[in-house]
Amino acid sequence: MVRGQANPHVARLRKHIGDVQLTTGDLLDQGSLISAVERVQPDEVYNLGAISYVPMSWQQAELTAEVTGMGVLRMLEAIRVVSGVGQSRTPGPGQIRFYQASSSEMFGMVRETPQNERTPFHPRSPYGVAKTYGHYITQNYRESYGMFAVSGILFNHESPRRGAEFVTRKVSLGVARIKLGLASELRMGNLEARRDWGFAGDYARAMRMMLAQDAPEDYVIGTGRTQSVRDLVELAFATVGLNWRDHVVQDPRFTRPAEVDLLCADPKKAREQLGWEPEVGFEELVAMMVESDLRLLSSSSRPEDEPLSPDHW
Ligand code: GDP
Repeated sequence: MVRGQANPHVARLRKHIGDVQLTTGDLLDQGSLISAVERVQPDEVYNLGAISYVPMSWQQAELTAEVTGMGVLRMLEAIRVVSGVGQSRTPGPGQIRFYQASSSEMFGMVRETPQNERTPFHPRSPYGVAKTYGHYITQNYRESYGMFAVSGILFNHESPRRGAEFVTRKVSLGVARIKLGLASELRMGNLEARRDWGFAGDYARAMRMMLAQDAPEDYVIGTGRTQSVRDLVELAFATVGLNWRDHVVQDPRFTRPAEVDLLCADPKKAREQLGWEPEVGFEELVAMMVESDLRLLSSSSRPEDEPLSPDHW
């Protein structure tokens, strides 16, 4: 689903999705979602739509709540209304299955490590708060109406297609630029933050497995390993034979008003019930991203998105 008039992202999407049909709709517009569900008559709906860059959520907190939070409610309502589900009628076999992209950012200031499906939430950004609403409303529609609605609590998942503002891609692009002599330094925020980074392709496979189960349940998806931003930077520079200490400059403009210090998944349930295992490890992921950006910057084309300027977190 794409929104807006002459949306510039469509041409970029086309390169990746071939002849997949796009339909119009907007998470801010209930009627457009009802029309989209009516038109497509889907078997499955995956809601990955969100304002997903955490620093942006402080700058546009209300819009983040509307898109990332209320957008989930509107999508569920569209499915409910088109399916004719209500208090007097629960969905039967063949109902539309709904996947909500919940986020490890909901754990925020973590209460325990590693984090599993029962770990309490303590979000640390307007983004995390909005995702927490989306998580609970998905659970509530499952419990209220018997809808097949599930949340995947996905930890950070990355690939060469990651937006340039996120830390992994910022680092892989930065390393490639420095290696090719296009830049000499990389300005970074908090190097001590720890994340459980995995490969997006593995995580997309998990989403599909969740909707293929007999019963709707929520799952934590992550690798169970955690690395610091410093580890990421060190490894990425080492991949091209450079020492990060010669190039990385810490810049307080990239430090956030409230930070999520540590995330590490406990993916036991997904392993045992879905048979899901990540196939790409951290080292392989970082090498894949750096090599991809070296190729991209060496070719005549330029990255599709430039990183945000340093006045952004
Ligand atoms: P997030 O976990 O969804 O917020 O994903 P990001 O990739 O944006 O950030 C991951 C972690 O990297 C956060 O703890 C950031 O504070 C930290 N970090 C340190 N320096 C930077 C930077 O320059 N850019 C970004 N995006 N993150 C940084």
